[in-house]
Amino acid sequence: MGRALIIGAGGVASVVVHKCCQNSEVFEEICIASRTKSKCDALKAKLDGGKTKITTAQVDADNVEELIALINDYKPDIVMNIALPYQDLTIMEACLATKTHYLDTANYEPPETAKFEYSWQWAYRKRFEEAGITAILGCGFDPGVTGVFSAYAAKHYFDEIHYIDILDANAGDHGYPFATNFNPEINIREVTAKGSYIENGEWVETEPMEIKRVYNFPEIGEKDMYLLHHEELESLALNINGIKRIRFFMTFSEKYLTHLKVLENVGMTSIEPIMYEGKEIIPLQFLKAVLPDPASLGPRTKGKTNIGCIYQGIKDGKPVEYYVYNVCDHQECYKEVGSQAISYTTGVPAMIGAMLLMKGEWKKPGVYNVEEFNPDPFMKALNEWGLPWKETFSPELVD
Ligand code: NDP
Repeated sequence: MGRALIIGAGGVASVVVHKCCQNSEVFEEICIASRTKSKCDALKAKLDGGKTKITTAQVDADNVEELIALINDYKPDIVMNIALPYQDLTIMEACLATKTHYLDTANYEPPETAKFEYSWQWAYRKRFEEAGITAILGCGFDPGVTGVFSAYAAKHYFDEIHYIDILDANAGDHGYPFATNFNPEINIREVTAKGSYIENGEWVETEPMEIKRVYNFPEIGEKDMYLLHHEELESLALNINGIKRIRFFMTFSEKYLTHLKVLENVGMTSIEPIMYEGKEIIPLQFLKAVLPDPASLGPRTKGKTNIGCIYQGIKDGKPVEYYVYNVCDHQECYKEVGSQAISYTTGVPAMIGAMLLMKGEWKKPGVYNVEEFNPDPFMKALNEWGLPWKETFSPELVD
């Protein structure tokens, strides 16, 4: 059917590449392009020989001109941004200049401030519309599948959704005292930031990890979870009809939180540059360099993730409660694609979003969050491509 340019060659990109190769009818050709070309070549070496034709390239995705040259040379149908949130805007600029469709898994975040919101990317709506190209924002699991779940719930089971709780549990154990499951810099910026949720149209801010709940997750059991700020709260509050409150919770073990507290207390999670032996360094970037590479956690991680959403609202005047979730086994993911479940649950939805765009089912000029598309083909594809979901109309609620 077509060709995709995949930017990035880290943990999530590896899964995207594996999944595109499994789906060679749609992804006839892919180019893996990243800052470190040897990582792209290593991925190609693993997967060469199948039906999808793989090429690789070196690119600095902070540089718009380099991106434009690569896109003009390769002429992809879509650019999949699986690098870091810092590259969202440069890649979107290059897509505009070359009239190429765009997809990412995380919203833009300026490197110098740990603050992520959609305003920067939503500002591109008119230009994408006029150029006749589609941008799909946040097409991983959360954000991503959480938005698709919400659109599905709204379409099939509710007239109004009043409350959404997004619950992200990782019961995986990698055996290290401390490691992050995806890019350490992005992950630590996210979890050390203030928490927030939306109530009656207003953001309510909390101290980091101030709100804790215990939840009994299906197939995982009881876990401590903490309220975090998360990007899909912003778009879902606007796109889902009737929202009164929307919150996001993620599980953390006591061990993880203790390590994080110590690192924070000694200044290792700071993004303020400091001078070290005559050279300016950013403590968090240095910390990333000494922590285990998330892409290396695959063989060590055992256990499951459970990510899903609980909805409360009304249908035909009657109250409805609905919980839809996916359970993913780290070791099963490793057996299939050589990665742990966090990369897997992000990479599979990115492939599905790109597939639906290429098939024309999710193609409309402009910049969109995933809940603005028809959820049905995506929900079907989740079952077919490795992330089957389960639902119940009598969930345990979060107080
Ligand atoms: P990694 O750090 O493992 O990989 C990032 C890749 O991007 C690396 O290959 C890196 O190159 C490359 N890269 C970084 N900067 C540049 C640049 N300027 N030019 C070209 N390539 C660059 O990250 P992950 O795979 O763990 O995460 C990828 C994305 O997925 C992130 O945006 C993350 O926020 C998002 N994510 C989304 C989730 C969701 O559910 N929506 C969940 C988890 C992650 P190099 O090898 O040289 O460093």
